[in-house]
Amino acid sequence: MKYIGAHVSAGGGVENAPLNAKAIGARAFALFTKNQRQWNAKPLEKAQIETFKKKLDEVAILPKHILPHDSYLINLGHPDKFQRQKSFEAFLDEVKRCEELGLEKLNFHPGSHLKEISEEECLQNISECMNEALRQSKGVTLVAENTAGQGSNLGYKFEHLAYLLQNSIDKSRVGVCIDTCHLFTSGYDIRTKEDYDRTMQKFNDIIGFAYLKGMHLNDSKVKFQSRVDRHESIGKGELGLDAFSFIMNDAHMDDIPLILETVDESIWSEEIALLYAMQK
Ligand SMILES: [Zn+2]
Ligand SMILES: [Zn+2]
Repeated sequence: MKYIGAHVSAGGGVENAPLNAKAIGARAFALFTKNQRQWNAKPLEKAQIETFKKKLDEVAILPKHILPHDSYLINLGHPDKFQRQKSFEAFLDEVKRCEELGLEKLNFHPGSHLKEISEEECLQNISECMNEALRQSKGVTLVAENTAGQGSNLGYKFEHLAYLLQNSIDKSRVGVCIDTCHLFTSGYDIRTKEDYDRTMQKFNDIIGFAYLKGMHLNDSKVKFQSRVDRHESIGKGELGLDAFSFIMNDAHMDDIPLILETVDESIWSEEIALLYAMQK
């Protein structure tokens, strides 16, 4: 079974996210557990956590179908040791917030080398931060997302993600999220069935479907291999509808959160219905 949702607002507090998901007919959702553009956040209150869990029960969405996203400020690969430590502390705080909310996964972008260090060194930095976060937490799986490869962002090759998994001290608590827009603009085509199958075979060979913990379903405003990150509504971009139909009929995407981060939230409920209707 497929579990589709969107990255919904947690405005006014995380406890509001479940009903925002329900309102668009979602069976899954993503959220920020704190303001994504600020370093600091006040701790979650006990009452807030309880309300969040109660609302989840009410809307019948399971923690495994929720994919919290970390702050955009965090760069676990930062070349500067002190900046990296700042990122690590913010990252660990996010992991702890997930733990408190009873959530099982935290989705993050691997990191950027800022053209100051090599890709290998940057990946090593990210890997060390991930391992330290694993040591200092329990129950939360760290889910690294593939990127478009804009600027100096790593994660635009399956090999980058595979490196992070292979160097993890706990392989049961690491995984990946594949964003279809990033996949496409970083150079993995999925527009025809042949291309889709080839890309997914590559994914399985290099990473393995056992590590696929979620997907972001986004069409792309920009062209194949452009290495630019611009999302578009489903079927209205360069990717087109077929790519999403292949996903909706691929059993590898069963039982994981499939999250829209498309540009027009007023049509999310229609996009969700459209995707479910693609199932044969
Ligand atoms: Zn994404
Ligand atoms: Zn993106």
